[in-house]
Amino acid sequence: VNGRRRKHWGWGFEDQQPAIEQLREAAGPLAAHLGPLLGSRDGDRFGLGEVEGPVALEAVALTPPRIEVPPALAEICASDPHTRARHALGSSYADVVSGFRGHFAHPPDFVAKPRHEADLEALVEWCSGQRVAAIPYGGGTSVVGGVTPDVDPARYNGAVSIDMSGLDRVLEVDSVSRAALIQAGATGPGLESQLREHGLTLRHFPQSFEFSTLGGWIATRAAGHFATGPTHIEDFVESVRAITPTGPWESRRLPGSGAGISPDRVLAGSEGILGVITRAWVRVQPRPPHRAAASVRFARFEDGVDCVRALSQSGLQPANCRLIDPLEARMTMAGDGSCALLLLGFESTDRPVADLLDRALEICAEHRSAPDDRVVAGARSGARAGGRGASQAAGDEAVSSWRGAFLGAPYLRDAMVAMGVLSETFETAITWDRFTALHERVTGAVRDAIDAQARPEARGAGFVTCRFTHVYSDGPAPYFTVVAPALRGEEVEQWRAIKRAAADAVIAAGATITHHHAVGRDHRPWYDQQRPEQFARMLHGAKAALDPSRIMNPGVLIGPTT
Ligand SMILES: Cc1cc2nc3c(=O)[nH]c(=O)nc-3n(C[C@H](O)[C@H](O)[C@H](O)COP(=O)(O)OP(=O)(O)OC[C@H]3O[C@@H](n4cnc5c(N)ncnc54)[C@H](O)[C@@H]3O)c2cc1C
Repeated sequence: VNGRRRKHWGWGFEDQQPAIEQLREAAGPLAAHLGPLLGSRDGDRFGLGEVEGPVALEAVALTPPRIEVPPALAEICASDPHTRARHALGSSYADVVSGFRGHFAHPPDFVAKPRHEADLEALVEWCSGQRVAAIPYGGGTSVVGGVTPDVDPARYNGAVSIDMSGLDRVLEVDSVSRAALIQAGATGPGLESQLREHGLTLRHFPQSFEFSTLGGWIATRAAGHFATGPTHIEDFVESVRAITPTGPWESRRLPGSGAGISPDRVLAGSEGILGVITRAWVRVQPRPPHRAAASVRFARFEDGVDCVRALSQSGLQPANCRLIDPLEARMTMAGDGSCALLLLGFESTDRPVADLLDRALEICAEHRSAPDDRVVAGARSGARAGGRGASQAAGDEAVSSWRGAFLGAPYLRDAMVAMGVLSETFETAITWDRFTALHERVTGAVRDAIDAQARPEARGAGFVTCRFTHVYSDGPAPYFTVVAPALRGEEVEQWRAIKRAAADAVIAAGATITHHHAVGRDHRPWYDQQRPEQFARMLHGAKAALDPSRIMNPGVLIGPTT
């Protein structure tokens, strides 16, 4: 983007990397905010004020490349340290802290940046012939080890990261059918700014929007931030084109089709193991001019859960229906920690939505929402619900404070790593009848795991929060955030123990290992328990047909043998 380079670790561009003095300045207020949540007034007990700086790229010793760039592909390949380090890790907490400490265990031997499909075809053919692993890389925002070139040296002579950022255009817009043909490497802001010229939007806003790409979204079945209606990216996909090692795969562009297993759905969630997605036709729409939003408080999280279940089964389809537990509300400064918060929003391209919000607020009242806090924020289409006026500012503040925290979270996480705070998130989905049991089991297991790892002075200091990111009529997608004093220098082991406890609890409770973060390498053990064995065999068969040399992203989704 305008010649700006991404940081070699963590989130953002190099020019956004704060100096150590700036980090120290920021650490004070952050420690003062987090400290009490962790049980220490200013975080001193855990040394939150002791800020470390990242290891500079110049001080990083990357393992030398095992393979040479083939001369025919030299124009599109790079193997300088920044490029290799940048493509060595994704964006999980473990990735961020590893990069911060200068640990890049599995850098790709080189990075290829195809300009067109012919480049990709030549690259994939070369990789197949040379037994070199080929790892598609969109924005590198994977939080499950999906882009880490950690491949078995006994099976592969090396690994190449395929950076799709050169294929980032909106190629065609069909305004009659309201669809657009978009290249896979287009990022959220990139594709939205091109669609804006046509007065259209894809309206798919994952939290990683700034850097993640259409191809990455399809490959991982990413979910946007709207709570109901089309959620996962495949709900927007009309057709997909991919380059596989045995040739191109392109589905027919159709609004719907009952002809057998959907070829688009086979690629959606394929996480780079079947081929490289190069472009897709996706459904787009005009920006919705009618909006109404409100924030609602509940004294008890449980009342909020019951209310959201009623809302999800009411047919009202709120665009936003984000229930946040009291602790998370306090952490994000959207509330004071005494109440759970529900952020509600409605949108329409066609008609005012105030009546929908009014009805939703009635349902909230039926579930013991705090009456004076049913405040309406940003009601551009003239909502009529009660409890606004004086409290409108408060509602605006809660919604915008939470939104600010949501968008700034990836940047904040980098600062938290520097000051010794572990922050991890994981998500799942479960039917309503089993949510309470899941919530208890997961939060209990994670708290135990935090304590089992903690130094004596930090026992009892970590916490787990929960919010709903998406809701369906039959169940929510709960999203958990874990915050704890980090074991400096041993953060990855600490993270792994917490991750294991959380994933074990999620699977034991009957939930999914992921609602939208994908499987990658990190979730494999639990995905293996979740998916039917015959399905794994079918995946192996599909891979053998499309990728007989098994070069495409090995280790992700399935193992080397059944
Ligand atoms: C702070 C943060 C917030 C996040 N918020 C969300 C969220 O709100 N919703 C959500 O769903 N996810 C979220 N994620 C996870 C992540 O952003 C998604 O998985 C996203 O879809 C990855 O897109 P990407 O372009 O960065 O892909 P990468 O991270 O580059 O790749 C992800 C996987 O897809 C494969 N892949 C990438 N491009 C292609 C391609 N063209 N063809 C074939 N395979 C490909 C890769 O090999 C890898 O297995 C978040 C991550 C972070 C760090």
